[in-house]
This record gives sequence, C-alpha cells and structure tokens, in this order.
Amino acid sequence: ALAPIVADVRRLHKLQGVRMDLGLTLYEGKGDRERVLGHTVGNAIFTQFGFSGPAAMDLSHLISTRPGADLTLEIDLLPHYRREMQGLLERMAGRRDARRLPLRVALGAALPEKVPPVIMTLAGLSDDTSLADLPRDELSTMLERLTRLRVAVKGTHGFEFAQVSTGGVPVGEVDPHTMASRIVPGLYLAGEVLDVVGPCGGYNLQFAWTSGYLAGAGAAGTPPLKK
Ligand SMILES: Cc1cc2nc3c(=O)[nH]c(=O)nc-3n(C[C@H](O)[C@H](O)[C@H](O)COP(=O)(O)OP(=O)(O)OC[C@H]3O[C@@H](n4cnc5c(N)ncnc54)[C@H](O)[C@@H]3O)c2cc1C
Repeated sequence: ALAPIVADVRRLHKLQGVRMDLGLTLYEGKGDRERVLGHTVGNAIFTQFGFSGPAAMDLSHLISTRPGADLTLEIDLLPHYRREMQGLLERMAGRRDARRLPLRVALGAALPEKVPPVIMTLAGLSDDTSLADLPRDELSTMLERLTRLRVAVKGTHGFEFAQVSTGGVPVGEVDPHTMASRIVPGLYLAGEVLDVVGPCGGYNLQFAWTSGYLAGAGAAGTPPLKK
C-alpha cells in the first residue's frame, strides 16, 4: 500500500510537523548483506510515528510487502544543496563576527527552524555553539551526518491511512487490452482492485482512469487496443 511509514523516530521527535524536501533511501539487512530497496527525493513530513507525505509514501509499498524484514530508512536533510550549504557556512565562518553567530542561526538560513537544534544535539554540540567554534573538518562531518540520518523502520500505517491499497487481484490475471479477467469469464477489472501501485503524482488516478476506460470498452465489446 501507499501509506505513511512507521519508524523509530524517538531521536527526531522534536521535528514533528516539519515538512521539507528529503532524500529517503530504504535499506534491507545489515552490514555486508545490506542492500538498497529504493530511493526517492521529495516532500515529506516528520510525524509522531514516522514519516508521511509523497516521498515517504513512494517507498512505503516496499515496506508493506515485507512484513518482519530488517529495514532501515536513511534520511538526507539536504538532498538539493549540501555543497552550497557547506560553501555558505564556510564563507560565513570566515567573517570577523562569526564568533557571535550561533551555528543554530547559520543553519537556519537553509533549514526549517525546528531542524538545527535537533541536528546539533545529534552531533553532540551545545545550543550556544557559534559558527566559529566549529573547525572546517567538523563542519563537513556534521553536514555529512545530515545526509545520512538512519532510523529503524517498523512498518506502514494501516489500510485506513493508505492512499492506494494495492488491491487483491494480481494484474497478471487480466488481459491488458480489455482488462478482462483471465480467470472469470465476463468479469472486467479496473483501478485499485488490481495490485498496481504507482508513485504519488497522479499515476494512480491515471491508472484508474485508463484501466476503467479499457475495461468499459472491453465489456462493451469495442476494445480500443489491437492485440
Ligand atoms: C487521501 C487520498 C489522496 C490521494 N491522492 C492521490 C493523488 O494525488 N494522485 C493519485 O494518482 N492518486 C491519489 N490517490 C489514489 C487514487 O485516488 C486511487 O488510486 C483511485 O481513486 C482509485 O480509483 P478506483 O476507481 O479504483 O477506486 P475508488 O476511487 O476508491 O472508487 C471506488 C468506488 O466504489 C464505491 N464502492 C465501494 N464499495 C461499493 C459497493 N459495494 N457498491 C457500490 N459502490 C461501491 C466507492 O464508494 C467508490 O466511489 C489518493 C487516495 C487517497 C485516499
């Protein structure tokens, strides 16, 4: 299903309600056996239980189809401008008044207000750290850390929260020209009743409309597609 992701976000609970673009990478397994299941960049929302929004939803079907799997979500807080952020902070750090510039405020130039205090805590920095207190290599390490925050994935939110249910009929059981069931003669299937799932962005509605058109024409005996 396309549904919000449930994850261990205790370390990030202060980010609840923050909506921003994130890079999200889903891994299965640990150590040498770890492999990437999916990656996406897009808008996401930090919630009480994990992540919602299009980017999270787009990975969620890879989770809901693997109950009990050992899954980890890697969060990139700077998917679009990590280098630019480093350049900006280095330039600011070179200013004479850098000692008076709290790191929290400098980071806030490019991140939502709630984010800098949380990442500074994760990096073991006190709230009053100034930009000038942070040597260049530590700044780089901290930014690197912002692109690789990891949380354990517990699953997805249930059916009632799903935007797409990934229905029960395998799409291989229908003739794609007419959407006729290969199992039950005279039955035509369309939309979410099939186990089709697309990313957010209109693909699921488009599939519902297109398959509905084909199924209607198929049932009327006027299929628009040639075999
Ligand atoms: C909150 C939300 C946001 C979404 N946003 C997007 C989006 O931005 N882009 C996108 O592509 N997709 C989106 N989707 C998914 C998309 O809406 C669905 O994939 C699509 O509507 C599926 O079409 P469908 O005709 O198969 O099913 P549905 O649209 O669910 O239609 C099924 C219809 O059958 C009716 N029905 C059910 N049982 C019976 C019965 N026993 N007798 C008679 N009628 C019955 C229901 O009332 C309903 O009207 C979203 C879904 C949700 C829930």
